[in-house]
Amino acid sequence: MLLYADDIETASVLECDLCIVGSGAAGLTLAREFSGQQKRIVLLEAGGLEFDPDTQALYECEAVNPRTPPLTEMRLRFFGGTTNHWTGTSRPLDALDFQPRRHVADSGWPFTLDHLAPYYRRAAALMQVEPSFSGNAPDGNRPLTFDSPWLETDHYFRINPLRFAETYQDDIVKAPNIRVVLKANVLSLTADPTASRVETATVATLSGRRFAVRGNAFVLATGGIENARILLGSDDVEPHGLGNRHDNVGRYYQDHPNVVDSSQVAFTTYSSSILYYLHRVDDQEVGRHGYFWPNPAAQQLWEMLNCGIWLMPIEEVKTTPGLVSLRHIGRKLGDGRMPDEFTKHLLRAVGDIDGIFATAYRKVAGIGPQLYTTWFWSECVPDRDSRVSLTDERDALGQRRLRVDWRIPDQYVHTYQRMHELMAHELGRAGLARMRINHAGPGEDPRAYIASSAHHMGTTRMHADPRLGVVDADCQVHGVENLFVSGSSVFPTYGHTAATYTIVALALRLADHLKQGFT
Ligand SMILES: Cc1cc2nc3c(=O)[nH]c(=O)nc-3n(C[C@H](O)[C@H](O)[C@H](O)COP(=O)(O)OP(=O)(O)OC[C@H]3O[C@@H](n4cnc5c(N)ncnc54)[C@H](O)[C@@H]3O)c2cc1C
Repeated sequence: MLLYADDIETASVLECDLCIVGSGAAGLTLAREFSGQQKRIVLLEAGGLEFDPDTQALYECEAVNPRTPPLTEMRLRFFGGTTNHWTGTSRPLDALDFQPRRHVADSGWPFTLDHLAPYYRRAAALMQVEPSFSGNAPDGNRPLTFDSPWLETDHYFRINPLRFAETYQDDIVKAPNIRVVLKANVLSLTADPTASRVETATVATLSGRRFAVRGNAFVLATGGIENARILLGSDDVEPHGLGNRHDNVGRYYQDHPNVVDSSQVAFTTYSSSILYYLHRVDDQEVGRHGYFWPNPAAQQLWEMLNCGIWLMPIEEVKTTPGLVSLRHIGRKLGDGRMPDEFTKHLLRAVGDIDGIFATAYRKVAGIGPQLYTTWFWSECVPDRDSRVSLTDERDALGQRRLRVDWRIPDQYVHTYQRMHELMAHELGRAGLARMRINHAGPGEDPRAYIASSAHHMGTTRMHADPRLGVVDADCQVHGVENLFVSGSSVFPTYGHTAATYTIVALALRLADHLKQGFT
């Protein structure tokens, strides 16, 4: 059932078994798992079915790092959340992302990749991608093969920008046990006097209505930044916010910093395998993108963060000087005229016979261009001082706005340099290409060139020890028996891959857990 918060009486209380807050990738995945079941679900969504600037403005926050993009636009506050304009790049985290690594402080998850693997398979079905991400590409392209002890060349991302709202709206809205309440902004959660159980969520609309939702269990699924904002703002019993006894809520904030044009690669060998690394999508924007990856041995030896390098063609190599001359001669003769400077053009064409042949060959054989720019993607170190925190400024609902202080430690700079050197060395050694690395010389800092990937992670990090994390391995807020968090805010280590595939896998896992346990 679809309801609007403005139609609910002020001061009334909606009762349910499970209250899910937020209807993005995480919230919709969770709600759909309960479709047609016994449990009474209330799904509270801040926005309506379409974009609305006044609702979107509730996302405005202050950014300390000038490289932080406008966080209002990097998230969408309406039904379907940010999946209404995401790109759909998907891949699971790597096995090493789940392990504690000596050279990455505070790294590791409370479980392994093997544990999450069945949920990744279910996520693939839901997100309409095949669950294979290595080997030959789905379109048949083969990766470059050369002998390297450090660099792996046969991995790719799947791409399918599935619109979650459009695809799954009916499954959820038509379910008799689910009430979706739109334009319902959750301001805070009210806990019992010992702060060990949430009793109600307080909801407000921009038109001034206020009501409460009482549930047996609550899941925050409002995105990697707002999950922390709601916990920090739920301070009526716990003065520093719910689940924040050890001052971890909002800390360890990270994104995937990426640098476009981090280097140039000139392939010296013609190979159709170069196509493996091109962005290949069909007219529905569905496809894949291969990349270069430093293997776990390389990462450990050089104390690198997990990262990858993508190729982007600088331009299709359509022409050479000899071809220009050949075309000039052909055009003039075709018009029945003698070409001017005929001898000069003829000599130039003959002198460039290799270039003419190579271009013709690439065209016939479907081989890509030889010159590329690179796109560098990396994880970041979990850092307590990289954080979101409440300011005294208020939004239109009276909720405190956030300050986002995104920090990128020196290990990122080291990883950037080492990964490019490694790739240059390995491609050069194999006689495949030469590379020119940007932003890595003395006194240069690639952090001046980073962009955000809009993957907001870490602010309610998962850790078995309540002193070191906000949620436990079941995504339950430590010390609060009926409060759970869904989304990338729970990632304790971030990997270099896009976040949503893991968000969906974790939401499916949380749904299974809630089905077993809560009453
Ligand atoms: C341009 C762009 C491209 C992207 N491309 C990719 C990509 O290729 N691959 C990838 O993995 N990720 C990508 N992302 C990130 C991806 O969109 C997010 O990882 C994903 O949407 C997060 O899902 P979520 O459910 O946690 O949060 P969201 O999708 O942001 O959903 C949160 C929901 O909570 C609601 N909400 C917020 N606050 C409240 C409140 N107080 N009360 C009630 N409801 C509330 C919001 O309205 C929203 O519906 C991209 C993001 C952007 C901006």
